[in-house]
This record gives sequence, structure tokens and C-alpha cells, in this order.
Amino acid sequence: METKSSWTDTGRDCPYCGGEIMLRLDQLPDGSQSKYHQCRVCEAQWTIKWDSVRSGKGDKILKQKPSAGRVEPLPQMPRWVWITLALMVGLILIRFGGASLLRVAILPLLVVFMGWLLYRLGRDQGWWHS
Ligand SMILES: [Zn+2]
Repeated sequence: METKSSWTDTGRDCPYCGGEIMLRLDQLPDGSQSKYHQCRVCEAQWTIKWDSVRSGKGDKILKQKPSAGRVEPLPQMPRWVWITLALMVGLILIRFGGASLLRVAILPLLVVFMGWLLYRLGRDQGWWHS
């Protein structure tokens, strides 16, 4: 026999990830029942009296302060978006720049621009974060 679980919404939000906490009722093979609260998202668990049993899956909560509550991660641009953007800006400058001065200046400008993009990307991705 298998364990049957039924889930009921408790209306509470998980303090770790902000997900919905459900009341989980397990019907065990030996006929007994076990009841506890469980987050649907990170699988953190609490007893019926809301004593913490375990926190959720580490990879979903470790980067977040416990008091932070519901925090959406910043959308992260894939690297090719930045590279395409830099190339397009470069092409536009070459195509419409015209003036020879601009053509001379384009390489250092591109280097500075790419450096700035890399800096932004690195900061967003946390390459050197703490
Ligand atoms: Zn959770």
C-alpha cells in the first residue's frame, strides 16, 4: 500500500520563500494518519502547532535573508542579449557615424562600452559579490 496525501490550503505564506503553506494529511499504510504543514514550493515543514520541523530546500532560500519575506529575484539578461546589443550599437555607429573622427574613436568607445556592460553583468550575476 502507498501513502496517500491530501493537501488543504492554510492561507499562510512560507517565511522562507513566500510560497503557499498547505496542511498535509498523510494516510499511512498501517492505517494511522500524520498531519503537518508543508510549503508547496520549498517543502519546508511545520507541525500542526507551527513548530518548525525543517526549513525548505537550501538552494531556494539560502541567498535570501529570513526576514526578507516575498522577494522576486531580479530578471537576468542572458549574455548574448548584451553582446548583440553591443554589436548593434557598434554597427549603427559605423554605419551612420560618418565622421572619420568617430571611426577612430569607435574602438576605444566599444571597449569602454563592453567593459561597462561586463561590469553591469558581473554585478547583476554576483561574480564578485561579497
Ligand atoms: Zn517555502
